[in-house]
Amino acid sequence: MFSYRHAFHAGNHADVLKHTVLIATLDHLLEKDAALTVVDTHAGAGLYRLDGDYAGTSGEAAEGILRLLSGKKEPAAPAAAAAAPAAKSAAKKAAPAAEAPLADAIARYLGVISDFNPKGGARVYPGSPFIIQHLLRDHDKLKLFELHPTDSRTLSANIAQLEAGRQIAVLLEDGFGSATKFLPPPSRRALVLMDPSYEMKTDYGRVLDFAAEALKRFATGTYAIWYPIIPRPEAHDLPRRLKTMATKAGKSWLHATLTVKSSKITKDAASGETQRPGLPASGMFLINPPYTLKPLLAEALPQLAERLGQDRNATFSLESGG
Ligand code: SAM
Repeated sequence: MFSYRHAFHAGNHADVLKHTVLIATLDHLLEKDAALTVVDTHAGAGLYRLDGDYAGTSGEAAEGILRLLSGKKEPAAPAAAAAAPAAKSAAKKAAPAAEAPLADAIARYLGVISDFNPKGGARVYPGSPFIIQHLLRDHDKLKLFELHPTDSRTLSANIAQLEAGRQIAVLLEDGFGSATKFLPPPSRRALVLMDPSYEMKTDYGRVLDFAAEALKRFATGTYAIWYPIIPRPEAHDLPRRLKTMATKAGKSWLHATLTVKSSKITKDAASGETQRPGLPASGMFLINPPYTLKPLLAEALPQLAERLGQDRNATFSLESGG
């Protein structure tokens, strides 16, 4: 049914963006004592080995978390965001990023990764379920949806090792179809992470339907949606339609994007073979984001674009409304 396996992509630049935003969001939501419920509608396998077969085959982490850890930069990478008119206000801050100390949100993300790798490096990469569980307190709850039978089995086995009891529920169910049943949670505090694989182009419409239904049930929840920035009309329309939805509902929103390379398909001069660029960019769209998120990302995104940028197209954008 599905061919997408997150193990091939774990720790790539999209995970770096997504997990940096996730941690910064959770840090704020966990400042209040009242219980928080986190719903992860597309959980994946939970934990990945970056030296394992899957990750080793694709090598995507080399251009994400591993590059960030090594501090290596491509010589061709420009001062981040210099080419991004949409990110004009933030671009002013981009120039001194090379000399600046590591942004707090990136340092925090790397701190969480190092908690899973006490000997250094990133041999183990935590997916969203493990990152979330690592930060939650005993009285918080985590609901994990994963529909791929193999990944769901791996996730259940990984989660079982945590001995977290009833704090964590793993559901072999359609996250789009049934995750709203947990909204609103009894404590009326929730974060919903939606991170589909967008393997099927109907996923874009299903994200919108889910967000509309979730807002109807629980208008004050925080919703964080990841999406790929690829040349496909549905991908292009998604943030625009989410903005309209949030604005109509009178809710605040935040939209952050990170581009690491050109999306152009090229031909290898010697072999004449077509070279596809792989995922060049991705975005995070949040409804009801914490007020602390925007300043943290304004500092972090220029550094991410600079450190993860692979060519002159590396850039970022950050906008908010409501
Ligand atoms: N959120 C994970 C993380 O950050 O570590 C990565 C998730 S991965 C991008 C998307 C996952 O969604 C895949 O493991 C896929 O099998 C699963 N999936 C696809 N369609 C689904 C659905 N309708 N409901 C639940 N899971 C689904």
